[in-house]
Amino acid sequence: MKKTYDYLIVGAGFAGSVLAERLAADLGKRVLVCDRRNHVGGNAYDHADAAGLLVHKYGPHIFHTNSAEIFAYLSRFTAWRAYEHRVLASVANQLLPIPINLDTINRLYGLRLTESEVAGFLARRAEAIATPRTSEEVVLSRVGRDLYEKFFRNYTRKQWGLDPSQLDAQVAARIPVRTNRDDRYFTDQFQSMPKQGFTRMFENMLDHDNIELALGADYRDLREEIHFGQLIYSGPIDEYFDFCFGRLPYRSLHFEHRTFDREWFQPVAVVNYPNEFDYTRVTEFKHLTGQRHTKTSVVYEYPRAEGDAYYPIPQPANAAVYAQYRELAQSVPEIHFVGRLGTYRYYNMDQVVGQALTLYKKLARAEAEEADGITPALGRSRVHDQSGRQSLLRSA
Ligand code: FAD
Ligand code: UDP
Repeated sequence: MKKTYDYLIVGAGFAGSVLAERLAADLGKRVLVCDRRNHVGGNAYDHADAAGLLVHKYGPHIFHTNSAEIFAYLSRFTAWRAYEHRVLASVANQLLPIPINLDTINRLYGLRLTESEVAGFLARRAEAIATPRTSEEVVLSRVGRDLYEKFFRNYTRKQWGLDPSQLDAQVAARIPVRTNRDDRYFTDQFQSMPKQGFTRMFENMLDHDNIELALGADYRDLREEIHFGQLIYSGPIDEYFDFCFGRLPYRSLHFEHRTFDREWFQPVAVVNYPNEFDYTRVTEFKHLTGQRHTKTSVVYEYPRAEGDAYYPIPQPANAAVYAQYRELAQSVPEIHFVGRLGTYRYYNMDQVVGQALTLYKKLARAEAEEADGITPALGRSRVHDQSGRQSLLRSA
């Protein structure tokens, strides 16, 4: 006999795990979480490598947020290690602070400018662009062409396979420009790493009697084997709809993990290589985790067009295709798309947690209204057999 669940959740990353935890622990729902990978945590998954060093399988993940609510929520499942992220960029044979700050300018150009002088220095070079629309325009409008070319143009071309002029402003706008000496990558109020790693935090979230996990299980295979009420989907939205409006492009990465028989590899957790090599950056995990070890493990990131979907690509044409999928999704009330791939948004971890908590509140409200008899049950009138999805595909 097929097992029955209130919710099937596709993806055990931040989006899926937060929703599973809330629905199970707060509403007492029976939840099945599946992931086609053989582990929880999605892209934030970490594990001990062969040397016993804690590494992030899918590249460096640093937690930061300005939301006290999101930080408090995650703090139920982990203690934290205070950590402020610092990054250096290899430019003109030096390792210089990025985001660009006072020291970056002084060291790059051999100057001794003060904070107020550097503001004038940048203002004289910045190009007058009233409303920057592309990543190129954002950087030119802040620091001018020379710094753009040294720090941003080639990194972006390598990372995205696109010129910054082809990418939405939001991509390069992630990196601020500072006239002081603050060399932190993020200035968020809460910056820290889960003390025992992300995976342990996810395990604690998912450790509930009402939550079952199916790892190494693709939704497409599983959906025939069970009955479920509603579906929460954090995989790529275009794949869910069989690419009926065409493929949404995603940028992929190849990760090369290496362990060195020496205590340290580089001075900070991340060194960016805008202009040299095929990789964009190198991360040394011990800086992030605080682990002590005689060896050290690092990861090199090589951008790729093909492979696992890691980054939605912020461009107007892609937003237009996504809007078609979103509209289709909105017409299936018992299916909820969430997360970086489910909503095609270049979101950080905390933003995905925030989005999942918001969806949870909406679902909880709907459940409460349903219990009061205000609205009809979603997905309950029939055992879920994907007919909603298929009929939509026909009409799409
Ligand atoms: P994911 O973590 O991608 O989880 C989705 C899961 O769904 C995946 O595990 C996938 O296997 C599963 N899935 C998909 N389709 C199916 C299917 N059909 N059946 C079963 N399972 C399926 N954010 C930060 O805040 N700080 C950082 O420093 C940071 N660094 C990053 C570095 C890199 C290289 C990358 C790629 C991302 C980084 N991020 C960072 C972003 C962060 O990874 C995401 O915001 C977050 O992990 C997204 O969570 P999610 O649950 O939406 O998606
Ligand atoms: N970027 C750049 N040079 C750098 C760092 C970042 O050109 O040294 C640009 C690049 O386009 C990159 C984007 O800014 O993709 C966002 O950088 P971030 O470090 O936030 O990328 P992520 O950690 O999400 O890969």
